[in-house]
Amino acid sequence: MQPVLELNGISKAYGSIKALKNVSYEVPEGCVFGILGPNGSGKTTMLSIILDILKPDTGSFAWFGDPGSPETRKRIGSLLETPNFYQYLSAVDNLNITHAISGRGNTADIDRVLEIVKLSERKKSRFSSYSLGMKQRLAIAAALLGDPQVLVFDEPTNGLDPVGIAEIRELIKELARRGKTIIMASHLLDEVEKVCTHVAIMKRGTLLTAGNVDEVLANEDIVEVSSNDPEKLFSLLANFPGCTNMKQDGKLIQLFFPVGTARLEDVNRFCFEKGITLNLLLVKKKSLETKFFELTND
Ligand code: ATP
Repeated sequence: MQPVLELNGISKAYGSIKALKNVSYEVPEGCVFGILGPNGSGKTTMLSIILDILKPDTGSFAWFGDPGSPETRKRIGSLLETPNFYQYLSAVDNLNITHAISGRGNTADIDRVLEIVKLSERKKSRFSSYSLGMKQRLAIAAALLGDPQVLVFDEPTNGLDPVGIAEIRELIKELARRGKTIIMASHLLDEVEKVCTHVAIMKRGTLLTAGNVDEVLANEDIVEVSSNDPEKLFSLLANFPGCTNMKQDGKLIQLFFPVGTARLEDVNRFCFEKGITLNLLLVKKKSLETKFFELTND
């Protein structure tokens, strides 16, 4: 299937600062694609390039296989920084202005997007009376005008409290259910893990990994075990066949295996036959946070 977005060898420098170094990846249709990276890793530069705000020094990108036409551009909605909404105007009036300036959407569309972001009941209230979460949802509504197929968001939950973050999470999931492809940069690892199907991890302008979240995370199986005598268990398991690494944290022992090779019944039998009864035995999925720090720590 044709990817929604394809980047080929994108590089960008600001003077001596190399913000992006030869970055290539593809964004498949219908995915929620999270771009993760520490501060200054190049996420905003990347989003600015794919939205034609900045020009890359080298490399190219194509939306829907097309290197760039105004028609293609209309299929992409974006939110890079909170738009300058008028404080004393209502949501409807503000979106009418956005529509007039951008040429996206129409009056009926304004009601539709306010419904999606759950602001219909407050659509006539002044912007100044909105909570931060509502303001951000209005900004997303503005990006939805004209019903674009792809949405690009830079840190959509920035500055929000846990309730506001959860609302944006549900909204992103809802947009994905409606078939939109979403590309978002974020700092919030657990948020990305909750909503994204795909992820790219960046560090100092270099792309460290990109792909399906499960594939990015599942490069090894982790088995967690514990017993009443963790020291004895640890020295016993040091001889367990196929195990590539072991860690101990108090009573908890983690065994690492190449992906797809861990078998709980073998671990259980091995321990039982050596006279140790386990009180915990489970396969653990690596969290995105663990993977992120593994990749980005020096
Ligand atoms: P953050 O998470 O802090 O927003 P980011 O991952 O979005 O960071 P960028 O904003 O793309 O990263 O910045 C990448 C690098 O380029 C950083 O070293 C930054 O200081 C530098 N940079 C970004 N914009 C400019 C600019 N206009 N002029 C000079 N340097 C810049």
